[in-house]
Amino acid sequence: MTHTDIAIVGAGILGLAHAYAAAKAGKSITVFEKSPKSAGASIRNFGMVWPIGQPHGEMLGLSLRSRELWIELLTAAKLPFRNTGSLHLAYAEDEAAVCEEFAAVAPGMGYSCSWLDAAQVLAKSDAVVEEGSLGRLRGGLWSDTEFTVDPRQILADLPAFLAERYGVKFHFSTQVRTIEPTSTGNVVSSAAGPLHAETVFVCSGEDFESLYPEHFAASGLTRCKLQMMRTSPQPAVWQLGPSLAAGLTLRFYPAFQICKSLPALAQRIATETPEFDRWGIHALVSQTADGALTLGDSHEYGLAVDIFNKQEIDDLILEYTLGFLKAPDPKVAERWYGVYAKHPTKPIVTLWPEKRVRIVASPGGSGMTLSMGVGERSLKEMGLL
Ligand SMILES: Cc1cc2nc3c(=O)[nH]c(=O)nc-3n(C[C@H](O)[C@H](O)[C@H](O)COP(=O)(O)OP(=O)(O)OC[C@H]3O[C@@H](n4cnc5c(N)ncnc54)[C@H](O)[C@@H]3O)c2cc1C
Repeated sequence: MTHTDIAIVGAGILGLAHAYAAAKAGKSITVFEKSPKSAGASIRNFGMVWPIGQPHGEMLGLSLRSRELWIELLTAAKLPFRNTGSLHLAYAEDEAAVCEEFAAVAPGMGYSCSWLDAAQVLAKSDAVVEEGSLGRLRGGLWSDTEFTVDPRQILADLPAFLAERYGVKFHFSTQVRTIEPTSTGNVVSSAAGPLHAETVFVCSGEDFESLYPEHFAASGLTRCKLQMMRTSPQPAVWQLGPSLAAGLTLRFYPAFQICKSLPALAQRIATETPEFDRWGIHALVSQTADGALTLGDSHEYGLAVDIFNKQEIDDLILEYTLGFLKAPDPKVAERWYGVYAKHPTKPIVTLWPEKRVRIVASPGGSGMTLSMGVGERSLKEMGLL
């Protein structure tokens, strides 16, 4: 039987991150992906590596380590990324209060951010509306740690890089059907035939049914559906600059929960515009390598995902986004949805169905941000680094 040190189930970003960490350690690696090419959450996202959203302490530390590893990998693979930083824009008084409070305390906790007044924001970005449906710009929270990759390019090109540079073997269109423990490791069964693997990492995203369904069922994991849109490429002379977010996002990411001023903002939004809470909407804008803008998103939770998108959600996202985004061609060219695994309280779920099998799931809405750090940490915890 063929042997590999490490088998990985899933060629989403978590699977690829585990493959990268293991490849650098000189292990032999085989990756199985049931789709002909990656089609899960990783290719459907904004491509934002977004440490500013992580709560301080362990998760911020992990996201900053992940950021370092991402840049190391993108540089080695000669893949482009937009190292632009981010702006959370404040139009309402309570939004400015949260941003200013965060900027006052967060640098002492490891964030790299500051408050900018309206003139300073406008000097940083040509894409920001000075006065519009959200009111008059008061300023924004600037952070320099965020960058953007194009997920479609990354998910297509990273397997090729890992195969060429490190000899990682990929089996696409190959679903792993069973993983059986043996005295020396595991036998991984798929249409590619049996493979003996010392260690297996299962990075199967929101597929809770194919492998270890009883472990997933007991884990507390659920699914989250997000609606997304993309414009055509903008004219080359125009650049988004920093990725943009605004008041709705402040109530979304756990980082901002350290702000005493946050509950008032969340309460106002809940009272004035309950439709944003109903669909879990906040608005983010990133730019891809070809100049297109990615816009989103919403959050609908539950194991059964509605396969039909709601026009109301897209309309709400667009209306809000155009309150702060000024782009030459904001017309929507593509719409899709993505689904990720999410645990109500744990930022990442790890399960051990067998001694040398580790399921790594549920980085929720932060999988792109955390993936590289999580991959490295998993390998260390298994004694492989
Ligand atoms: C719309 C959207 C926007 C997002 N934006 C961001 C963002 O900007 N920044 C950020 O940090 N995070 C973001 N996220 C979250 C991030 O995309 C996810 O956390 C991350 O992609 C999860 O990666 P994964 O590898 O676990 O899952 P996936 O990408 O879903 O990959 C899992 C893979 O496993 C394969 N698979 C499953 N079972 C088997 C099997 N038995 N055999 C073989 N293959 C199998 C699947 O086919 C799939 O390709 C976003 C998510 C969505 C949906």
